[in-house]
Amino acid sequence: MRAGVFRGAGRMPIEQVPDPVAGPADVVLEVRACGVCGSDLHAYTQGLFTKPGQIMGHEFAGEVVSVGAEVAGIARGDRVTGLPIQPCGACRRCRESVGHLCEVWNTRSIAFGLPGAFAEQLRIPDAVLGYNVHKLPDAVTFEAGALVEPLAVAVHAVRQAALSPGQSAVVLGLGTIGLQVAQVLMAEGASPVIGVDRSPLRRSIAERLGVTVFADVADVPGDPEIDTVFEVTGAPALVAHAAEIARPRGTVLIVALYEEPAQLDPTRLVHKELTVRGSAMVTPEDFRDAIDLLATGKAQTEPLITHRKPLAELGAAFDAQTDADQAVKVMVVND
Ligand SMILES: [Zn+2]
Ligand SMILES: [Zn+2]
Repeated sequence: MRAGVFRGAGRMPIEQVPDPVAGPADVVLEVRACGVCGSDLHAYTQGLFTKPGQIMGHEFAGEVVSVGAEVAGIARGDRVTGLPIQPCGACRRCRESVGHLCEVWNTRSIAFGLPGAFAEQLRIPDAVLGYNVHKLPDAVTFEAGALVEPLAVAVHAVRQAALSPGQSAVVLGLGTIGLQVAQVLMAEGASPVIGVDRSPLRRSIAERLGVTVFADVADVPGDPEIDTVFEVTGAPALVAHAAEIARPRGTVLIVALYEEPAQLDPTRLVHKELTVRGSAMVTPEDFRDAIDLLATGKAQTEPLITHRKPLAELGAAFDAQTDADQAVKVMVVND
């Protein structure tokens, strides 16, 4: 089959690789859609976090074409998405039932150690329905299915904040994850939900989704007493901003990844009794909730997709995703 193989910064050629084979516990999908993730760009532009030879692509949906003999409840022809992370089941975190923080997940997961979904086919190891494989309702397209993973990242982040309905939230950064965080917040009854981003394109998409938007943190009017501030830009300077606009006893939720350390005055945290918390990865529960949000129309994906590219143009897909002013989500599609 054909797959895009990471060969170093800026290089993602399409190569011929062996077809995946389903072992007794595995399924193989024909990949129909796979999103380029903001986190993939650290590898593509800087060569960070990923080794040459890796097939990337962890936001996928497809049709099952092969099912191992031991797999229950999944059949050829099923339309599915799945969790990229494959916890080991044996390390301290896995034994504490926080498998999404598995100590070795990045050596044994889809697109992290195992081949990813920028390919014609994908093997999902140890396939368990409702756990690492999730069927798509009829109303959820393959492209929406490929956006379940980033929506689940947002569900996970909002869950960490433990907001009550009627509490206020600011989302700094309106890329795919920020827009999804805003939608999950609205679905959960947070109010107001305010989004901040310098990009006019991202602000206009957020407005279409019902988010109140501003170009700069300083533009948020009055003394807004924000209950929870989500930092989704990855810009180190905005971490301290987030702590400034959170109300006393509020929460700063860090969802982005940073290429540089950020400065944060701990005295501000003391004076305001702020909670600062990180949110990493996704769980099967987050996936189920994300699919429910899509099936019930409480979250949308179509407005987020700014580009569609065939697998043959994977390099161009990555180049498009790199332009933050023009791209929100670049979707790689196999017809
Ligand atoms: Zn991702
Ligand atoms: Zn583990």
